[in-house]
Amino acid sequence: MSFLSKKYSSMEAYTPGEQPRDKKYIKLNTNESPYPASPKALEAINANEVKDLRLYPDPTCSELRESIAKRYGVEKENVFVSNGSDDILNFFFLGFCDEEKTAVFPDITYGFYPVYCNLYGVKYREIPLRDDFSVGVEDYLDVKANVVIANPNAPTGKTISLDDIKRILESNRDYACLIDEAYVDFGTESATKLVGEYDNLLVVSTFSKSRSLAGGRLGFAIASREIIEGLEKIKYSTNPYSINRLTLLAGKAAIEDEEYFEECRQKIIETREYTTRELEKRGFKVIPSKANFVFAKLDSIDGGSLYLKLKEKGILVRHFKKERIKDYLRITIGKREEMEKLIETIDILAQEPMLLGEETI
Ligand code: PMP
Repeated sequence: MSFLSKKYSSMEAYTPGEQPRDKKYIKLNTNESPYPASPKALEAINANEVKDLRLYPDPTCSELRESIAKRYGVEKENVFVSNGSDDILNFFFLGFCDEEKTAVFPDITYGFYPVYCNLYGVKYREIPLRDDFSVGVEDYLDVKANVVIANPNAPTGKTISLDDIKRILESNRDYACLIDEAYVDFGTESATKLVGEYDNLLVVSTFSKSRSLAGGRLGFAIASREIIEGLEKIKYSTNPYSINRLTLLAGKAAIEDEEYFEECRQKIIETREYTTRELEKRGFKVIPSKANFVFAKLDSIDGGSLYLKLKEKGILVRHFKKERIKDYLRITIGKREEMEKLIETIDILAQEPMLLGEETI
């Protein structure tokens, strides 16, 4: 007996990366930060605040939005916040897409986009990335559909320029263009500076990666007032208190601690360059990444087998079964010591006769 409504019974849900509880891994599979949140965020959550959990949080999230607005040089009315950027993506597909406003996005991108489309019955078209995994900007001009692009893209780590984003915005004036900037802080220019110019631009971002608050669940969007009002309407129609009191405080402290943010971000960028060099020395093809992960493959072994071998040795990375990328692994950038351990483990595996040449599963 299934109690789930018929329209959802055959729907495929999103599968998040593993969050194992069985043993301690070097966890390089879900693009979390290896560093703790800003010490100021930790200070902001004290025993008194925990006591105040008896009270509902501020549904307008006024102070947090003020701080985000200041950081990005926009007005508070241009800022929306919710329970992780997944929540905001959810609101976008629910509230801004329908039979007339269909959606387009790359064939290789964040796997949640088609899941939302299927959930809400939104028609979508997947546009193939070019052979080198770059987004072909011409493919998104005058598409008469809402455009969704992750920049940097996941899981490739490749970027598109602000000039290309402008071309897309200009040629699709009557449609929204969502730029998902979950990884923008690791080396790309943010499209938030275009928000004043384009009322059809919605930039979505997160505190989960560069601000080390994945467990706090906090995402934000910067866009024209019209788009923000639309998002608010959907939020108030589903869950007005979508951010808890502690996360509101931690988020505000984190966005105001520019120095700590910069320090962590730089360390991750440096470690990414180290990891890329070391993997390349060992024969990996590594897609040049501007994110906090690298996407890499070794010709001598399929991605699934290497994923399992690393897991056996206590290192967790992400493997996707999709045909075009099944030989690749997405490896989150951890601390330098963790990446040294990864490289050391790859060297140990290379001694095993089975790694080079043979597929093991
Ligand atoms: N967008 C992209 C491209 C992502 O990779 C992720 C992380 N899985 C998200 C959005 C969602 O992040 P969060 O909900 O933690 O803000």
